[in-house]
Parts: sequence; C-alpha cells; structure tokens
Amino acid sequence: MHLISIDDLSTADIETLFRLSDGFLEVASRPIKKVPTLRGRTLINMFFEASTRTLTSFELAGKRLSADVVNIKASGSSVSKGESLKDTILTLESYRPDILVMRHDKVGACRMATRYTNARVVNAGDGSGEHPTQCLLDLYSLRRTYGSLEGLKVAIVGDVLRSRVARSNVFGFRKMGIDVRLVGPPTLMPPGIEQWDVPVYDDLSALEDVDVVYLLRMQLERAKGTVPPVPSLREYSRIWGLSPQRLRSGQRVMHPGPINRGVELTGDLADSAPSLILHQVESGLAVRMGILYHVLAPHPGEGPLVEEPLA
Ligand code: ASP
Repeated sequence: MHLISIDDLSTADIETLFRLSDGFLEVASRPIKKVPTLRGRTLINMFFEASTRTLTSFELAGKRLSADVVNIKASGSSVSKGESLKDTILTLESYRPDILVMRHDKVGACRMATRYTNARVVNAGDGSGEHPTQCLLDLYSLRRTYGSLEGLKVAIVGDVLRSRVARSNVFGFRKMGIDVRLVGPPTLMPPGIEQWDVPVYDDLSALEDVDVVYLLRMQLERAKGTVPPVPSLREYSRIWGLSPQRLRSGQRVMHPGPINRGVELTGDLADSAPSLILHQVESGLAVRMGILYHVLAPHPGEGPLVEEPLA
C-alpha cells in the first residue's frame, strides 16, 4: 500500500502500527540498534523541501531495518537543472526501489508519483496538503503518554491555513477518538474550514479544558508574495504565543517542529516538563520504522511479503 493521506489507514492499521512501533522502540534501546527486517530492500528518500526530523528519522529507520538507503535532495540533484518530477521518478524506477519517501512543495505530488513507480510511496509532506507520518508519530506519542487516546481533548493552535500537519492531525486524531478543536486568528484558518466539521475558536480561552495544546509553526515561507495573515510575528506571539503562565497545571504541549522560540511558544516552555516535543521526535523514529514495514507488508491484492519484524 501507499501512504499518501492519513485516510489511507483504518483504525486497525493504526493500532497495528502502534504495536510495531512498540517493538521498534525497544530496538532503539538496545546497544545494537538494528534488525534484519528489510535486508535487501531499497529505500529512496526524495526531499524536494527542507527537513531535519523527517529526513533523519526515515534515513535512520531504513538503516536500522537493514534496508539500502539513498537520500536525494532537490539542491545537488538534477531537479536543480530543471528535470521534471516525472522524469526524476522514472529514472529512479530503473533502480527498482521498494519504497519512495517523498517530500515536495506541491499538494498532490506524492499521489502523482504513484503513477510512475512500482515502489510503495510514502508522503513525507506535500505542500500544504498532508503529513500523515507526522500525524502517526503524534498519535503514538500521545498513546505512550496517556495510555489511551479515546476522549483525550486536544487543541491545535495557530497557522492552520498553510499547515499540512493540521489537516492530517484533525482527521487522524478524530479517527482515533480524540476530541479535537482548532484555535487561532480567523486570518489563519483556511477557506472552507466548515467542511472539516471541527470546532474553531478565535480565543485562547478555548484551551482551558484541553489535555494537550498542539502548537503549529508560523509558516511564513509559504506566505511569500501574499498579504501577511498577521500584522507581525511580535504581535502574533503577544496574543497567541504560549508561555508556562498561559498553561494550566497538568496540560502538555506538542509541536511538530521546527519550533520558533519566542513566536509560537516561549523558550522556557519548550524546555519545560509539560513539553512533549522531543518525545514526539523519539516516537517518530519508531513509528517510521513501523511505517516502512507496514507499507511493504501484504495488503489485499498486493505483494510482496516481508519477514515478520524482530524475528
Ligand atoms: N515539520 C513539519 C512539516 O514539515 C511542520 C513545519 O514545518 O512547521 O510540515
């Protein structure tokens, strides 16, 4: 199977991924952090947009599963010479990769890639479209922290307009029984938000009764050439920035990274106990190992088989 949207997975698939991730988390605690599960398989990470966490964790995930891993970035590849996405994928297809993990600045680019490859395609972020593996690692981080997801209350705060994380998380969190709401200035909510069928608030008082505040990064790099949706970052952080004083005792904070200290949250909050930000990163490696296994595992009408992990 491909993993393009969080909607490609059922709740049973997500539970299977949690079970796999538990095993892979245990592998990460061993002195030798490697299992032979994907020996002989080829993973190509194609990153046409900047990334730290996602690329590193997919690269490590592939290596810890013993796959052959190749990383391609737009700068330094033929993409910078004008090669089209189709031609890049057809070229790489000659190497018969098993999995293509792809990040691209255009919505739908990963779905398009599935037309030109026999490999399983994993969406590692497509423009302001989706980021399903971020959603899965966030769910896993919450599951490790709270034990159960059902009935948990989460507020997603900030730049929903350009956030692929918000889109995947609203749908994925709700699928797993989480009570999710969006909070932020109306100018940072996308047109047609009513169709998401999720409560939207424009005041931080909507955070009072939630268990988790999930902060989004202000994605100004996607705002180029448009009217800025907020007057200034200083103004944004004054009204919407989270500090320890704005958090109720017991509440936790999440963020997909990279964080902007002093914009979405204060530096002392990022470094404090309620922050799950590094826990998310740790969860991400185990989850991405699980994803690489899961997309190659047999699904109805599909091969090929891979060995049971951790055998
Ligand atoms: N790292 C996340 C993403 O790639 C969030 C962000 O960049 O703000 O979408």
